[in-house]
Amino acid sequence: MSLNKARDVLKTYFGYEDFRKGQATVIEQTMEEINSLAIMPTGGGKSICYQVPGLISQGITLVISPLISLMKDQVDALTSLGITATFINSSLSNEEQRERLNALRQGRYKFIYVAPERFDSDGFLRTLDSIPLSIIAFDEAHCISQWGHDFRPSYRTVVNRVKQLSNIPTLMGLTATATDEVIRDLQQLLNVRNEHIVKTGFARDNLTFKIVKGQSRSAYIEEFVRLSKDEPGIIYAITRKQVDQLHFSLKEKGLNVSKYHAGMSEIARKEAQNAFIQDDTTVMVATNAFGMGIDKSNVRYVIHYALPKNLESYYQEAGRAGRDGAPSDCILLFSGQDIQTQKYLIEQSEMVEEKKRQEYGKLQAMINYCHTNQCLQQFVLDYFNDDTDAEDCGKCSNCIDETEKVDQTKEAQMVLSCVKRMGERFGASITAKVLKGSNDKKVKQFGFDRLSTYGLLSHYTEKDLIQFIHFLVAENYLVSEEGRFPVLRLGKRAVDVLKGTAQVMVQVAKVEKRETTDYDG
Ligand code: ADP
Repeated sequence: MSLNKARDVLKTYFGYEDFRKGQATVIEQTMEEINSLAIMPTGGGKSICYQVPGLISQGITLVISPLISLMKDQVDALTSLGITATFINSSLSNEEQRERLNALRQGRYKFIYVAPERFDSDGFLRTLDSIPLSIIAFDEAHCISQWGHDFRPSYRTVVNRVKQLSNIPTLMGLTATATDEVIRDLQQLLNVRNEHIVKTGFARDNLTFKIVKGQSRSAYIEEFVRLSKDEPGIIYAITRKQVDQLHFSLKEKGLNVSKYHAGMSEIARKEAQNAFIQDDTTVMVATNAFGMGIDKSNVRYVIHYALPKNLESYYQEAGRAGRDGAPSDCILLFSGQDIQTQKYLIEQSEMVEEKKRQEYGKLQAMINYCHTNQCLQQFVLDYFNDDTDAEDCGKCSNCIDETEKVDQTKEAQMVLSCVKRMGERFGASITAKVLKGSNDKKVKQFGFDRLSTYGLLSHYTEKDLIQFIHFLVAENYLVSEEGRFPVLRLGKRAVDVLKGTAQVMVQVAKVEKRETTDYDG
């Protein structure tokens, strides 16, 4: 019965027909006053999880969020639906804060949004103790955990303060990113039982992932933006210079674009951001400085002009597409030179050696994503150890690729034995030279021209051979040891290939055909 009521509320207030994955469970638990932990992807619809039970319950719902910039939007959204809500944070004058607290005590709000810092005040705690609180929702809950990637110490102390309330309401933690360690930590802090953790997985069913190689990137973007007409999209570039250039060239072509990077004045950034959010400009060209805490649900595509530094950032940035659940594209334009740019950024950073090594490792996974033949969504889920949804997406650029697969087992055997004969101490480029039979000085100096594998694949270009080696790394036939100068070793799938008990199938010319077929839709 209770879920029927929740469905009615979903329909009358929010206009949605049915719950999304996981929502019904979290809502039901909350209505039964059971503490929950909801781990859902960005755009999964976490807000509804506390808003629906909040509307049904007798009391008030308190939402704690470290993203001050989003509070106003969320409150405005609720208010426009006829729901009483407000926020109290440092952006308000003391006077305004006092007024809102008074109104809260008088029962004039059903929802109240605050930042963790609010709990530093004893007065605020006393107010909470004097009102009928039903639910406390901890948004972005991963920030509470010291294992989380965005740990905020002030957020952690909130939990203790909440426990000082004379009547502790139903608690819920909501996050899109939680490793097992973070989950365990939050479970303990928020007092959530195993069976009340609702994890829907990281898969984003409405997103189509694509990798585009070997094309003029600016021409591709220009055409894509034109074909997308007035649909909002974000284009991420790595450097400010790239952003400036791309912005300039798109604008020159008469396209409706804004730009955003940390080198711009605060006012200029704010203006660009507002123009994009309010649909005055369609396209935002930006560095990764753009996006944190920006809530725009109708972004129809995110294009990465260049290779991001790791899959964590890529998935987060690409995930800003399609938060409303409508089909959206995430396109990565890959060019081998970007690997050097990212390596340079790691190398000249001030990280300690160990951290640099980790970053090289993460970069390698990002590179592997660009070379794999596997379903791109699955590749990401595997990377995050998410096995909740083990089916291929059926629509990424690898899944829809109908190019014939060619048996390249023999070629793979040659590459693998060459790597082995070279002592597993060298990188892709010199290995390619050896296989090509190059007269290179270094090849001779190491005596590699005397190896039985020297010149075995001379009918390929060095570039093709390097590409093939990258593919073998992406598919775990080879391992590329992280470091400034990566070293190739045999991977876990190498033995079977060398023994002849496994085949290596390669899709050829996989991306080119996209250009004329499916990129408007
Ligand atoms: P999250 O906080 O998980 O990133 P939001 O709560 O902002 O996601 O929700 C993302 C979008 O999905 C919003 O536009 C929201 O209105 C919409 N949404 C949420 N639940 C549903 C539902 N059951 N049916 C349709 N749309 C929904």
